[in-house]
Amino acid sequence: MPRILDGVAIAAAIKQEVAEEASALAARGIRPGLAAVLVGNVAASEIYVRNKVQTCADLGIFSELITPPATVTTEEMLDLVAALNRRDEIDGILIQLPLPAHVDTKALLDAIDPAKDVDGFHPVNAGRLQAGRSALVPCTPAGIIEILKRSIIPIAGQHAVIVGRSDIVGKPAAMLLLHQNATVTICHSKTRNLGEITRQADILVAAIGRPGFITAEMVKPGATLVDVGINRITERAEFERFFAGNAKREAAFAKNGSVIVGDIDPKAFELAGAYTPVPGGVGKLTIAMLMANTVRAAKMRRGI
Ligand code: NDP
Repeated sequence: MPRILDGVAIAAAIKQEVAEEASALAARGIRPGLAAVLVGNVAASEIYVRNKVQTCADLGIFSELITPPATVTTEEMLDLVAALNRRDEIDGILIQLPLPAHVDTKALLDAIDPAKDVDGFHPVNAGRLQAGRSALVPCTPAGIIEILKRSIIPIAGQHAVIVGRSDIVGKPAAMLLLHQNATVTICHSKTRNLGEITRQADILVAAIGRPGFITAEMVKPGATLVDVGINRITERAEFERFFAGNAKREAAFAKNGSVIVGDIDPKAFELAGAYTPVPGGVGKLTIAMLMANTVRAAKMRRGI
């Protein structure tokens, strides 16, 4: 039977540790603070940001929610970021993506003070990560490493194959696994013979954004499968492809008209040595790591 790597339990443990750190800082008169910027009314973004703000409150982290309208200009957003960079009680600045198309996302992310860049997207932090220096690391890839380490999955010397090369998941995940002494292969949409490569993976990380893209034939039996994908499926035929005969998912589909599936076909999990489920896997770590980064930024800015 494959082992399920429980993102819910690991996220809870990390949040507990962050709350303890926040309380130790509070005893020294320091309260880590996060500014969350939510532009417009994107429903999914509103849910994510609400969760982040609530988690701050739960862990003793100050947070401020800033909600510019969808019509905000790049210049107005740059002014806002500059003001947040100057404010001493703000340790972390989070700009919830995606932004409206007319806003220059790259310019904004580059304007965040790297010391307050709790998403780890600034080129300075990307460069520091590449150079193996202490950095604020993107939350989802940092969460992948936490899951593997806390589950005592060996990384050093293992062949880690990452499918996906985005700046927020694939690339930093590859870099972090390399720093843990994995032998790393990065695949993407132009990779030839993808299945041949993924079948060599001891650790296979899927960060593609396509439901069930990694099938059982693409997986080496006994591998550790890390599924980053979060895809909502609403079509009955697609549901049947992944979850036929699964009573729990059937009930969820009937109730909500949709279910979430990762980038790995659930049938491939049966072959795995261990895997992160969707939901309840990597996704649960992302907010926990954001909280950890906020406390880390608060300490680093004060030389602690
Ligand atoms: P992006 O769309 O930015 O990147 C997708 C990557 O997948 C690209 O590198 C792309 O290659 C590659 N890809 C696409 N099609 C194929 C293919 N046919 N074969 C091989 N590679 C392919 O996505 P993200 O990295 O932002 O997100 C990936 C997934 O992770 C999504 O499902 C997203 O929802 C989820 N996610 C989950 C998070 C969490 O908290 N758990 C956080 C962030 C994302 P190319 O570069 O060549 O185009």
